[in-house]
Amino acid sequence: MTTPGRNWAETHAYEATTLHRPTTVDELRRVVAQASRVRALGTRHSFHDLADSPGVLVALDAIPHEVVLDPEARTATVSAAARYGDVAPVLHEAGWALAAMASLPHISVAGAVATGTHGSGDRIPTLAGAVVALELVGADGDLVTVREGDPDFAGMVVGLGALGVVTRVSLRVEPAYDVRQRVHNAVPWETVVGELDAITSAADSVSIFTRWGAEAVEQVWWKSRVQAEPSATWGVPATADQHPILGIDPVHATPQGGVPGPWFERLPHFRMGFTPSVGAEIQAEYLLPRASFPDAVAALRALGPRIDPLLQVTEIRTMPADDLWLSPAYGRDTVAIHFTLVRDPSAVRRLLPAVEEALAPYEARPHWGKWFTLDADALAARYPRLPDFVALADRLDPEGCFRNAFLERTVLRR
Ligand SMILES: Cc1cc2nc3c(=O)[nH]c(=O)nc-3n(C[C@H](O)[C@H](O)[C@H](O)COP(=O)(O)OP(=O)(O)OC[C@H]3O[C@@H](n4cnc5c(N)ncnc54)[C@H](O)[C@@H]3O)c2cc1C
Repeated sequence: MTTPGRNWAETHAYEATTLHRPTTVDELRRVVAQASRVRALGTRHSFHDLADSPGVLVALDAIPHEVVLDPEARTATVSAAARYGDVAPVLHEAGWALAAMASLPHISVAGAVATGTHGSGDRIPTLAGAVVALELVGADGDLVTVREGDPDFAGMVVGLGALGVVTRVSLRVEPAYDVRQRVHNAVPWETVVGELDAITSAADSVSIFTRWGAEAVEQVWWKSRVQAEPSATWGVPATADQHPILGIDPVHATPQGGVPGPWFERLPHFRMGFTPSVGAEIQAEYLLPRASFPDAVAALRALGPRIDPLLQVTEIRTMPADDLWLSPAYGRDTVAIHFTLVRDPSAVRRLLPAVEEALAPYEARPHWGKWFTLDADALAARYPRLPDFVALADRLDPEGCFRNAFLERTVLRR
């Protein structure tokens, strides 16, 4: 037992009184059964109080990690607290791979899945989209498994920690593959806006980095499986590796220049052994219907003079629609517009309502793990299955063991 401390970005000090680190699932079950209020903590990469608890927190990183492959079913069952960067080399060594990774390999599998964390790719679903089963400890301490096809499954995967403490996650896997990553600079805005479909389908996974006032879009990163060299003709090919934020040493970034390498060393932008992104930052991200991209870009470029002074970089990514109730990509092909902002909480708090107002016509859904100011009414209007999620949480956790201030502010209400 210890005190919980702060999140990764040091933008939130956890209010929970105690952090438990059980070493077995049975010990975890006892902690949950005895606590009146408890929530799971992952690798602390969410930027606000989402993971916090008015009671105790529990981290699963002291429970020995395992990766159990089922080649016939093409699944791997992994420990909830394992980081993607721990799991990926084990899968690769055995000849298997995941379809997607986020920008960084440092996050826990359960924490990423719980918030609908995503990478990029017109045909690559969010990380939650790879889940085929979850094993979790419910409010009474019982261990249950929910599988794809079960009635509650689509409601439980992006669960925000509100439905139980996940102990193991089964993920869809596919044969291992290599990826090449190429970066181009200075792609004209008109091209990015007018030819988004061509740009994002020119490789398996595409990320666009820029500031809103830049004369041309600063960087496009194309990541393609080696059999499919990106057909990217836009902009100026970079002559050396780059960080997503121009001017920062690219030593933190994954190799570029078309040099092939294992999927898990190219799909993320950042290497496991280094600090991802910049560290001193606040992130926000809004996920929109793909068709709204040109209008959303026009609205944000108009706001550029307010955004850019606080912005380190924007990243634009795409993903297909899914059917997970609280996934930000639920029911619509999606374009995600992300902001890495300076770590100035009051300035960011003043900026975000303006961004949210500009994106309101497109029913922008905020990333659950990043900063936003939208309230429960706004979110309810943008998540058609949110009432079903609230009913599910009430049924699975009638005493509110897994509730916290974040959930009551945004989803569950009081
Ligand atoms: C530098 C940086 C880069 C990022 N890049 C991306 C990106 O590329 N794409 C993207 O979509 N997001 C990105 N994020 C956001 C990040 O992926 C999410 O905040 C994610 O939830 C972090 O996972 P975590 O393990 O740190 O979870 P935490 O922040 O610790 O917790 C998040 C939620 O998961 C729940 N949770 C954790 N473990 C369990 C469990 N065992 N059982 C039940 N619930 C659990 C918590 O209760 C909480 O609700 C980034 C964040 C940072 C700091």
